[in-house]
Amino acid sequence: MSSPDLTQAEREAVLAVLNTPNLSMGQEILDFERAICEYTGAKHALGVNSGTAGLHLCVHAAGIREGDWVLTTPFSFVASTNVILFERATPIFLDVDPLTGNMDVTCLREAVHDLLEGGSAARRWLPRQGLKGDGVQRDAPRLKAILPVDVFGQPADLDPILDVAQAHHLKVIEDSCEAIGATYKQRPAGRLGDYGVFAFYPNKQMTVGEGGVIVTDDDEAANIMRALRNQGRAPGDTWLQHTHLGYNYRLDEMSAALGRVQLSRLDELLEKRAQVARWYEERLAEIPGVEIPVVVPETTRMSWFVYVIRLSGVDRDQVSKELKTRGIPNRPYFIPIHLQPYVASQFGYREGDYPVTEDLGRRGLAIPFSGVMPEGDVDRVCEAIREILSKQV
Ligand SMILES: *Cc1c(COP(=O)(O)O)cnc(C)c1O
Repeated sequence: MSSPDLTQAEREAVLAVLNTPNLSMGQEILDFERAICEYTGAKHALGVNSGTAGLHLCVHAAGIREGDWVLTTPFSFVASTNVILFERATPIFLDVDPLTGNMDVTCLREAVHDLLEGGSAARRWLPRQGLKGDGVQRDAPRLKAILPVDVFGQPADLDPILDVAQAHHLKVIEDSCEAIGATYKQRPAGRLGDYGVFAFYPNKQMTVGEGGVIVTDDDEAANIMRALRNQGRAPGDTWLQHTHLGYNYRLDEMSAALGRVQLSRLDELLEKRAQVARWYEERLAEIPGVEIPVVVPETTRMSWFVYVIRLSGVDRDQVSKELKTRGIPNRPYFIPIHLQPYVASQFGYREGDYPVTEDLGRRGLAIPFSGVMPEGDVDRVCEAIREILSKQV
């Protein structure tokens, strides 16, 4: 489905670390974090050992606790919801924009209005069951934060999201795990809310193996997240003193070294991916039954993560199978989070609850995509799609 884009420079950087005794908590992580700050303009960058770990620390830093509500979307990779569940908070799902798959901001405005009003207005947005801490008297409102996802490398519509957040004192955690380098109205994705997270799994635009990074301008949040990343050690704690209940979410030195080289090549990596996306677009745009990805005007730079087409008038799963028979890997994208078994059973979600998400989930097919994909391979994939569809449509 994908392939990392690595050169001799990456291999040498990792090898150089292996020729020292410092494999964790050394100079490489500091250098990588400084480079991320320079690239994004963030005051703080914290390397972590996965994007999920980064999002989890942000949820904690945002003060989200048991029984709190966080507005997010079910059209995403499961991690964006899991990190809310880790803290026993409740994800309140909003349906998505049919063009981008990102948070529908009209839904957001209505939901915030209704949730703050309470009663039956609020119930329309809440899950059927599984709310924690109900009946507990509280001083603080339950609605704490918004967690928008920049789906497939296209930033969510952050201006209206930030307006709502500001008006109601909600934190914004931007899941930019699929969107490093993207811009929204010329502003960098991941830098628009209170916290942003980028992920570096091998299929992402740049990789460190396993890892991610948090960016924020919030000093206090950065301090607590640094402590929690490092087994709860606060500044001044010794190796075996732990002020907080923490985690081991550290990024090792080999990964940081790899990340620094990848980051120095990021603009090149993104341009190569954009070229492959253009090749796909040229070939797929004219095939009946295929809808190609839409880049909206607010997205002043798309950071291509995956290439997901939508099929209409044909059986997506049948097309998927036939492509596999021809040796072309592909994947449905996404299976909606509210229908994942553990989420559906905890909260009582059913098919039909989020129609746009479900429609996109039924029709979306990710096809092979990476910055090192040769034009001939794009030809082969597109020819196969054309042939299979010509029989089906
Ligand atoms: C990749 C990704 C993550 C984090 O993934 P990790 O594998 O934990 O690094 C989180 N959210 C979204 C939307 C992602 O695509």
